[in-house]
Amino acid sequence: MNRSEPVRHELGLEYARGLDAADEMTRFRERFHIPRTADGKEARYFCGNSLGLMPRGVSADVEVELEDWKNLAVGGHLRGRNPWFPYHEQFREPGARLVGAIPSEVVFMNTLTVNLHLLLASFYRPTSGRFKILCEAPAFPSDTYALRSQARWHGYDPDEAILVVRPREGEDCVREEDIVSLLEEEGDEIATVLLGGVNFFNGQALDIESITATAHERGVIVGFDLAHAVGNLELKLHDWGVDFAAWCSYKYGNAGPGAIAGAFVHQRHGDSPDLPRLAGWWGNDPSTRFGLHLIEDFVPHTGAEGWQISNPPIFSMTPLKKSLAIFDEATMPALRERSVRLTGYLEWLIDGIEGSPYSLISPKEPQRRGCQLSLRFSTDARGLQEALVEKGFVCDFRPPDVVRLAPVPLYNTFEDVHLLVDVLTDRVGG
Ligand SMILES: *Cc1c(COP(=O)(O)O)cnc(C)c1O
Repeated sequence: MNRSEPVRHELGLEYARGLDAADEMTRFRERFHIPRTADGKEARYFCGNSLGLMPRGVSADVEVELEDWKNLAVGGHLRGRNPWFPYHEQFREPGARLVGAIPSEVVFMNTLTVNLHLLLASFYRPTSGRFKILCEAPAFPSDTYALRSQARWHGYDPDEAILVVRPREGEDCVREEDIVSLLEEEGDEIATVLLGGVNFFNGQALDIESITATAHERGVIVGFDLAHAVGNLELKLHDWGVDFAAWCSYKYGNAGPGAIAGAFVHQRHGDSPDLPRLAGWWGNDPSTRFGLHLIEDFVPHTGAEGWQISNPPIFSMTPLKKSLAIFDEATMPALRERSVRLTGYLEWLIDGIEGSPYSLISPKEPQRRGCQLSLRFSTDARGLQEALVEKGFVCDFRPPDVVRLAPVPLYNTFEDVHLLVDVLTDRVGG
C-alpha cells in the first residue's frame, strides 16, 4: 500500500456505482456507441486517447450528405441541406470554444501532421542565427519526423537544429524548469518551440501559458501539438498568446478515424496577409475564390481559414457536428472537473494495490496531467494484457512495459474504473 494522500474514497463496486448515479455528467455516456466484445457485452473502453467513441447520430448526419450528393451533385455546394461551399464555417465557433480561441483563429482542415507542416511553413522560418526548434522527448514519432524533415528542408542538419528536452535520468516526465533553462541559454538561436500540450506517452500536461510567455520574452515563436490536449484540458489559446497549434479530432474529439484535424493561428498572425504560407484556393478570400483563372493573386482569407488549401472532405468533416455539439453541451470546465475526479479515483485505487508491480509514470498532481494515467509494470506485461482483453477491457500497451489508461469523462464511468482495477489487483494476487 503506497497511498500518499488521505483516503477520500471507499472500496467496493457499490461505492463506484453511487458516484456514477450522483454525477449528472454520467448521462453523456448515452450519447455514444459503446463497442461490444466478442460475446456481445459492452466493452470497458480505456482507449479514448487513441480513438474516441462514435457519437450517436453521426451515421444519419453522414447519410444526409451522401443523399445530397446523390440527388443534387454539384448543386450540393450551394443548395444542399448543409451547403458544402461554406460547410467548414459552422465549426469556427464551437471549435473556438473547445480551445479557448476567438472564432477566426480556428479552422478544421487536413490531418494533424499535415497541419503541423503547413503551420511550420509560416512559423518556422530559420535564419543563420536563429534556426533551432525546441521540442520534447518522448515525442510522437510523426512530430519528430515532421520537425527533422523541416530542418532538412531548410538546409539544416537536424541533429544540430533540433533541440530536445528530455526527462532527467531516472525520471519519466520532462521538467518545465529544464525547458525554461534551454530557452534562457539558447533562446537567441531558437526560431520555434513545438511541444505537446499533453504528452502522448506519459500524459504530462505542460503549462502552456508560462512556456509561451518565457519563449516570447526571448523572441521565440511558440506552437503546440494539442493531439492529447484538445477535449481533455481546458485551453485558453488566445489569452495565453500561443502563436499556433494543431490537433487531431479522433482522440478525445471523437470525430472518427482520420477525422479532419484542427488548427489555431493567433489573431496577431492571422490578420497579417503578408505572412508567407503555402497557399491554395480554399484559403483565398471566398468572395474571389471562384475567380479561378481570372485572378492570379492570392488574397488570403483573414484568420486561420487563410491557411486552408483545398476544399474540405465533407464526409470526414460531418462527424464534427455531433462531436462539437456534445462538447458545447457538456462544456470543458464541467468535463475537466469530472475528469479530475475520475482519474483521481483510478489513481487512488491503483495506489491501494498491495505489493503493486505498477508504477505511475504520469505526474501525480492533477493540474500536471489530463485524464490519462500511464503505468509501468515490472512483471507480467503479457499476462495482464491477456487478462484485460479476456475480461472485455480495451487498453493500450506500449512495449515493453507501459499501459496507457484513459478514463474519458464523456463516456467512462467510475464503475469502469473500479472493474479495471479489480483486474489489475487480481493479477497481483494470482
Ligand atoms: C495522434 C498523434 C499524431 C497523429 O498524427 P496524424 O497526422 O493525425 O496521423 C501526431 N502527433 C501526436 C502528438 C499525436 O498524439
